Amino acid sequence: MQVIEIIEKKRDNRPLLKKELNFLIDSFLDGFVPDYQMSAFLMAVYIHGMNEEETSWLTDLMLHSGKVIEHPYHQRPLVDKHSTGGVGDKISIALAPAVAACGISVPMISGRGLGHTGGTLDKLESIPGFSCDLSIEEFQNQVASIGCAIIGQTKDIAPADKRLYALRDVTGTVASIPLIASSIMSKKMAEGLDALVLDVKFGSGAFMADLTRAKSLAQTMVGIGSRLGKKVTACLTNMDQPLGVMIGNALEIKESIDILKGKGPSDSLALTLELGAEMLILGNKASSHEEGKNLVKDALTSGRAFDVFVRMVKAQGGDISYVLEPDRFSKAKHCISINAATTGFVQSIDSRAIGIAVGMLGGGRFTLNDTIAPEVGAELKIKIGDQVLEGQPICMIHADQRGLDEALLRISHAITIASDPVPSPVLCAGRISTIH
Ligand code: URA
Repeated sequence: MQVIEIIEKKRDNRPLLKKELNFLIDSFLDGFVPDYQMSAFLMAVYIHGMNEEETSWLTDLMLHSGKVIEHPYHQRPLVDKHSTGGVGDKISIALAPAVAACGISVPMISGRGLGHTGGTLDKLESIPGFSCDLSIEEFQNQVASIGCAIIGQTKDIAPADKRLYALRDVTGTVASIPLIASSIMSKKMAEGLDALVLDVKFGSGAFMADLTRAKSLAQTMVGIGSRLGKKVTACLTNMDQPLGVMIGNALEIKESIDILKGKGPSDSLALTLELGAEMLILGNKASSHEEGKNLVKDALTSGRAFDVFVRMVKAQGGDISYVLEPDRFSKAKHCISINAATTGFVQSIDSRAIGIAVGMLGGGRFTLNDTIAPEVGAELKIKIGDQVLEGQPICMIHADQRGLDEALLRISHAITIASDPVPSPVLCAGRISTIH
């Protein structure tokens, strides 16, 4: 078999055979296919896509390029949640303990922020001492004893994806549905799950701004799950405004602690219940959406979810005094209010612009080596549809000196006010599942 023939076949939009993909990926990992040939192949996939079979084979190859974690003595269902990423999306932090408190185990391997989106690991690391760097054995043990663990990707998990993603990142080939779907699913399936809930975002702050493309990504991932014999549900959720009110690492931990106590902004809480219910249904702990939501709500309001969170933080080396007394988190030097320029109704909140502004304050990374300032961020005082009066605070900026002027300008422009009433966006726009 010749690699160039495989590239030409994809270039000419002809479907590949399993053995051809197999040969290509194996040869790439063994160093026989140079980056320039793999880049040409990725660009051909970006342009022509892949059919369902090809996408599943690629997922399977990337999944088995590394370790698939096992949980051999585990009695409880193993279910995880993955979000395609957004601004203010801190849901995993409260969701994993809440669902664990309902009898499901959550082995969660999560990511760091890059560009305008934040990352769960960076948020958790704003708790002094918290480590996302567990060995696979420590991860397995913690999932078995506490019911959840949140760690970063290790070098043993789907290494083929790691190498392919690095190439995609520098060759303009990230935004391809089969490549995104196989990348996400290979890493998630390596966690050793029984089932997976996907939160597929659409809107201005999402990877896929357009609902139709987000639906197609969701369908592709659910299809992969089905072919691999796993139960998968994808929820399509709105990212036309940031989720909740806090954007920034330590600020988002504070909001997560509120959610863990059954409080917090209505959209963050609603999404936690929504995704939690889907996880309980897939794990056979609830037979209806309503029942699932009630079980998660009870775990939050009873304090059981918070207890699991405290145990998880402690097990991962975090100083629990910060979780017990969130006022201990260090504060940014400045807290500056942005006020409404006019009276009216909040029309739009550009999530992407706010995510970038928070990144400029030091809350995110634009290159992998940037350091994070956990205390900085933005605190929204309004959501789309709210009525505001001229001069009323609409956003508080928590900043040190880094990027302050630019961030203030960007956030001021990111929020627009209309004179006529504006409807609130619908949070969940649908669901696609391997079960009905
Ligand atoms: N997240 C991933 O893990 N992979 C992609 O390709 C895109 C987002």
